[in-house]
Amino acid sequence: MTRTEIENAVREAAEKNTAAAKRMSEPEKNVNVPAGNKFEQSGAELEQSVTEAVKKKLTPAQQKIRRRRQNALVRNIVQLFFFLMMPGAFVAGFSGVKSIFQKVAAGSVLELDSFVKALIGLCIFTIVFGRFFCGFACAFGTFGDFVYWISGLIQKKLFRRKKQFSLPEKFSPWLQKVKFLILALIVVACALGAYDSFNQYNWNPWSVFSFITALRFELSGYTIGIVILILIIAGMAVKERFFCQFLCPMGAVFAIIPQLPFAWLQRDAENCLKNCRACQTTCPVDIKLETDGFRNGECIGCEKCAGICPKGNLTRWDRMLLKNEILPVIIRAAILFLLGAYLGLCRFL
Ligand code: SF4
Ligand code: SF4
Ligand code: SF4
Repeated sequence: MTRTEIENAVREAAEKNTAAAKRMSEPEKNVNVPAGNKFEQSGAELEQSVTEAVKKKLTPAQQKIRRRRQNALVRNIVQLFFFLMMPGAFVAGFSGVKSIFQKVAAGSVLELDSFVKALIGLCIFTIVFGRFFCGFACAFGTFGDFVYWISGLIQKKLFRRKKQFSLPEKFSPWLQKVKFLILALIVVACALGAYDSFNQYNWNPWSVFSFITALRFELSGYTIGIVILILIIAGMAVKERFFCQFLCPMGAVFAIIPQLPFAWLQRDAENCLKNCRACQTTCPVDIKLETDGFRNGECIGCEKCAGICPKGNLTRWDRMLLKNEILPVIIRAAILFLLGAYLGLCRFL
């Protein structure tokens, strides 16, 4: 190719670019553009590059904060959704436990009634997906999160406390055993046929809670249950997930059933920042991630640790596969909701 031919080719290319730029700056003249042509592609590319540029403007610290806020927002929306749609799921599941042991004690045939089905459904879901139900969908757990958040707000605004008061975590491993004792007492009472006579005093706080969430306020005769619920609320104010960690008999059931290994988050300890304990500090149930890891029935599957990790170092197969932190939560929530609808646990269906 001669020098003149090269100069002509360069001039032609420059003219084409100028014409394309002119068309882009005059969108009203851009009519009948066939789908998928180069002009449309360049628009999409332009939009993508603008998005990337906007993203690039955020510093890494800002991106981490944004990611944390997005995770927290999604969790709150999912929790609110299940609080409104399935407030009685936890009570139905626990009624299944009582029903089984009462039937066994009475020597009658086990029936697959709605409570037993709810228990089986929630247990299978927990085996496959971990304690997602506790972390995101249980109304009592959500209520506990709300009380603890309000308590923090009051301490900050009224008492000018910089750090929210919370019971020291050194007591947690011991107090977490109490719920197994409560479960054992209830099972023994059911097995001995004494549960109903004991329950005539209406001591049961979760029944009171389920009446309130169902907007049924016929609570006369439930004085003991109301007093216990108030004490539990006081506990929720000074310890995150107080009831879940220490007292919940259904939590005890979930803690002892096995979970499939792919239900757990994984932590790449070798990739951790030096002296970072952010995941452990944020864990609402004081799991010692550095030593115990996730293979712990106490993990309520809230994913707060994964949301706060500055290195995105806590992950799971579905998060890696979808390259997304939010989509797996939404998929799990959708599966749980469909299961709840099938089991008749959804309020408006
Ligand atoms: S531990 Fe009990 S109260 Fe807490 S979220 Fe799980 S089922 Fe609900
Ligand atoms: S280990 Fe993580 S997912 Fe499990 S309870 Fe703690 S913060 Fe939630
Ligand atoms: S927050 Fe992340 S980087 Fe920090 S210790 Fe936990 S897993 Fe490691």
